[in-house]
Amino acid sequence: MAFFSKNIAIDLGTANVVIYVQGKGIVLREPSIAAVSDDEYRDVLEVGTQAKMMLGRTPAGIVPVYPLREGVIADFMITEEMLSKFMIKALNRRLTIASSSSVVICVPCNISEHERKSVEKAVKNCGAKQAYITQQPIAAAIGAGLPINSAQGSMVVDIGGGTTEIAVVTMGEISISRSIRTGGVHMDNDIVYYVKKQYNALIGDKTAEEIKIEIGSAMDYKDTSSMQVRGRDLMSNMPIALEITSREVCYAIRDTIDRIILEIRAVLENLTPELSADILEHGITLTGGGALLNDMAERIYLDTQIPVKVADSPMDCVALGAGIIAEQIEELKKSRRKR
Ligand code: ADP
Ligand code: MG
Repeated sequence: MAFFSKNIAIDLGTANVVIYVQGKGIVLREPSIAAVSDDEYRDVLEVGTQAKMMLGRTPAGIVPVYPLREGVIADFMITEEMLSKFMIKALNRRLTIASSSSVVICVPCNISEHERKSVEKAVKNCGAKQAYITQQPIAAAIGAGLPINSAQGSMVVDIGGGTTEIAVVTMGEISISRSIRTGGVHMDNDIVYYVKKQYNALIGDKTAEEIKIEIGSAMDYKDTSSMQVRGRDLMSNMPIALEITSREVCYAIRDTIDRIILEIRAVLENLTPELSADILEHGITLTGGGALLNDMAERIYLDTQIPVKVADSPMDCVALGAGIIAEQIEELKKSRRKR
């Protein structure tokens, strides 16, 4: 019985879904993509890594869908189906989850009540007894090992695919937060746009992401590497190869980086003196995949003069933090009842 009533934590990200199972840790990391039949039935044929492999190469009759683009559930039916396929995979059995399991699920902080309800419904439809919606910055801070229950303020910046969340957490609560609908996916789009303008060539989203990860940088004078990329010439419509440098990529993504920095500054400017002092002393912690962009931490430091560090395994922080909550749900409930 105990085996079947494990609690689960889910980071339902715009780019990746990460699932944590009580007592086991992280058991699944998959991109938030579904390959869907292009007809009125909209059958979900593949999800996650399998679906991502088909990106840009989907056979006729199949379309890739990102059901969570921009941090909201843009497509409820497909989100639900994708989530239930991931849960089956994560729990490694046909029955999704036991009716006594609780699920802690993280959502971006500025989603509407309606969106929150739809996430809850999606989880319950997968069979969970209870769904606890947790604010993402809290989970990110716990997962990054920050002392969220102390009076000391901690600042966490989570740069995901479609959203960036900036928050200061103190005494277990968010004291101030801002969420913008930009992140790694926008950098990819910036790169596609740049190559189109500069070389009159079209590259795929996946190629753009590879370029960003390989040679992208948040600071232009740092890196002089370059990379060969392939795409389609828009004049001749023929395949072409071209060379792109790290500096070009930095130039292409500059507006997205600037927007993130601007929001970080806006949060810093609105802190109480005590919290300002805490952040100056303990620094900013970066989580999410965008934290892995070359020189991102250094760039934020240069623009704010606040020490910045990248959390360990930044893409796992939210799921780890939510997992720590999931491990403690029963105790939390007990201690509440006693009070
Ligand atoms: P989400 O929480 O929105 O699902 P993640 O935290 O999983 O997002 O981060 C995914 C984003 O991070 C993607 O846009 C991906 O391209 C980007 N990313 C992952 N690794 C790197 C890297 N090494 N350099 C730059 N960006 C990266
Ligand atoms: Mg995330």
